[in-house]
Amino acid sequence: MQPILEILNKALGDFKTSNTYKYETPLESPQDAVVKVKGKKVVMLASNNYLGLASHPKIKKAVIDGVRKFGPGMASVRFICGTNKVHLELEKRIASFLKCEDTILYLSCFSANEGLFAGLLNDKLGYENYHDVLYSDRLNHASIIDGGRLCKAETTERKIYEHKDVAHLQRLLEEDKDKNYRFRIIATDGVFSMEGDLAPLPELVSLAREYNALLVVDDSHALGVLGKTGRGTPEELNVLGQVDILTGTLGKAMGGAVGGFISGKKEIISYLRQTSRPYIFSNSLPPCLAYSAMKAFELLQKDKSLVKKLRDNTIYFRKEIKNLGYKIIDGIHPIVPIMLGEAALAQNASFELLKEGVYIKGLWFPVVPRGEARLRGQISAAHSKKDLDKALNAFQKVGKRLKII
Ligand SMILES: *Cc1c(COP(=O)(O)O)cnc(C)c1O
Repeated sequence: MQPILEILNKALGDFKTSNTYKYETPLESPQDAVVKVKGKKVVMLASNNYLGLASHPKIKKAVIDGVRKFGPGMASVRFICGTNKVHLELEKRIASFLKCEDTILYLSCFSANEGLFAGLLNDKLGYENYHDVLYSDRLNHASIIDGGRLCKAETTERKIYEHKDVAHLQRLLEEDKDKNYRFRIIATDGVFSMEGDLAPLPELVSLAREYNALLVVDDSHALGVLGKTGRGTPEELNVLGQVDILTGTLGKAMGGAVGGFISGKKEIISYLRQTSRPYIFSNSLPPCLAYSAMKAFELLQKDKSLVKKLRDNTIYFRKEIKNLGYKIIDGIHPIVPIMLGEAALAQNASFELLKEGVYIKGLWFPVVPRGEARLRGQISAAHSKKDLDKALNAFQKVGKRLKII
């Protein structure tokens, strides 16, 4: 036998000794504010179910209705026979919600980002010896990084600017100003998942204009979350309609199933339908999920209290966890990083909190810098004040026991 299994076994052991092994804890109930784990009810503080739609009765019903109307799937890609009317309706709905001209659906935001850059940049389009350049925030999501890697290295230069460092990005753009690039693209997350912090979109919009670059924002953690009406980071920071390309997921606030999209000018979206490989060579989004996503947008737009409840819950939890004596990274997003320092402490705290009825995960090096291990809390509109108080109580008990507070 080849030594592969032996080598993998050793690597798996190394993950465990270096505390980077990813353990899975199965839920025995639907995703919700409170879930069942090992027969016990615990408050969920680790999901992206920001609006509580993952097990909302209307969304569940929409999925079931969707299966009855359209079946579970299309058994085809979009351009062969995999397009249902509901795909087109959802694309229109997302585009108009985000004030963009058009939208293209993918199976996930990961695959949207994989399909975006190579889809736009890998053809000559009549240019001989062309070069493009892609500027990317150091902390961008893995899917943006992989998306960049799928571009041909000979023709796409990739440059990283320091996290949210507008001055650094400007220096890079300035250095490149007189170079003969065909396209210049700036790519950033709208909200970064480890810190819950926002990209400096107004400054990025101005830089993109000044240097004739295209701005791409992956707003997966902000769609349905930020902005008065849930239109995301651009709405929160008053640049709605000014971002050239938005990507996002249907798997977080907007129902928690799967699905992703790219929104932007109609020429860009139409071109991606012709060239973007995950779109052309992979089955289309199950139409029942396009149907339930329509319902999620409808709910978000009809029920203004959802976004407000999420924001109120976030403000409450952020204030009270600080009152207990915990150190957090301040901000407005329902991602609440609770800073503990050492990996072992974060691991231990997560374990003890589960025993006290709170589901929360720890993050440590190499996911975050050394010495900045943390618990990442995520608040939902589905949480009642009682749920949050139960969680805060557990934090008080465990914090004292482990001498954190
Ligand atoms: C979650 C996330 C993704 C992946 O979304 P999926 O639809 O689950 O593939 C991509 N980008 C960012 C910034 C995310 O937070």
